[in-house]
Amino acid sequence: MSFKTAYLKLTLFYVLIVMVISIGFSVVIFRLSADEIERGLGRQSRIFVGMRGANNPMIMDLDQIRQDQIEESNHNLQTNLLYFNILILILSFSISYILAQKTLKPIEEAVENQNRFTADASHELRTPLTAMKTETEVALRDNNLKIDDARNILKSNLEEINKLVSLSSALLKLAKLDRDIKAEFKKISLKKAIDDAMDKVKKLANKKAIKIVFDETVVISPIILGDKDSLVELFIILFDNAIKYSPERSKIIVEISQSNKEIRIIISDQGVGIRESDLPHIFDRFYRADFSRSKEKVDGYGLGLSIAKRIVDIHHGSILAKSDGEHGSEFIVRFPLKH
Ligand code: ADP
Repeated sequence: MSFKTAYLKLTLFYVLIVMVISIGFSVVIFRLSADEIERGLGRQSRIFVGMRGANNPMIMDLDQIRQDQIEESNHNLQTNLLYFNILILILSFSISYILAQKTLKPIEEAVENQNRFTADASHELRTPLTAMKTETEVALRDNNLKIDDARNILKSNLEEINKLVSLSSALLKLAKLDRDIKAEFKKISLKKAIDDAMDKVKKLANKKAIKIVFDETVVISPIILGDKDSLVELFIILFDNAIKYSPERSKIIVEISQSNKEIRIIISDQGVGIRESDLPHIFDRFYRADFSRSKEKVDGYGLGLSIAKRIVDIHHGSILAKSDGEHGSEFIVRFPLKH
């Protein structure tokens, strides 16, 4: 069902409710007013009867006049109520359309997002599958396929399978984070979460001789209410990116500070940086900046930072990236102390 039809249906539904109430009220008003008019004019004619005597022919005329007056008043009342209802119909249609838009717009946007996400995810899943299918088909058609060639094909297929595994686990993570995990919130030491994340990326950093160090001013170990696994995941994503987009033998620095309102964590690297035009989009699902800027080909699906953002959102925090586009990047994560 298109959303235009849904807007119209909801509008008509609202109009129907308003009109049933308005017509109901009009009927009640008409009945009460008609009774009142009849009673009022009846009282007047009784006074005339008292004054002139019951058999006076003028009484007949007065009765007729009274009847005409009642009919005319009823007719006027009906016309006024009709105009009133037409006015209500026009007003309620316009207001209902605006209300229907207000009600359905967020749902329409969510559905559009979901559709875009499904299309992007299917596209990303299809690419390695197509590569594997083509390679396998070509190999099967080759009657003189040597064992070494077959081994190479299996190796390349395994690479694609690994990509599929990491993509599907990223998609699963996102789906899991979309459910509410607040019920599992506990007191967590942020420093400990960062340490755990450092441990997890140590191998990767060592491969490029990259050092991840705490700024010497870090002497505090703030505690927040949160989900430990997601927080560790958040820092793994930020470290993983910093390593991926940094040259060998560079440094990644972690700063932690706390005010009476918030805890601030800054992770800065000396990598390729992020262009100003990319900065507003890097937290979008499947967005990847032009990676030709980094010398080596960097694997990824553009899902890491959207997972990071979701984790920060769940903890009522904010995440921001800063870069001059050349000399490294800085990711600033803030968590409020009270929420
Ligand atoms: P992925 O790294 O898998 O492409 P992300 O969502 O983690 O996806 O990041 C989105 C994009 O943001 C990346 O493609 C990259 O261009 C940019 N980016 C993220 N972190 C950094 C960083 N530390 N330095 C430079 N660019 C980065």
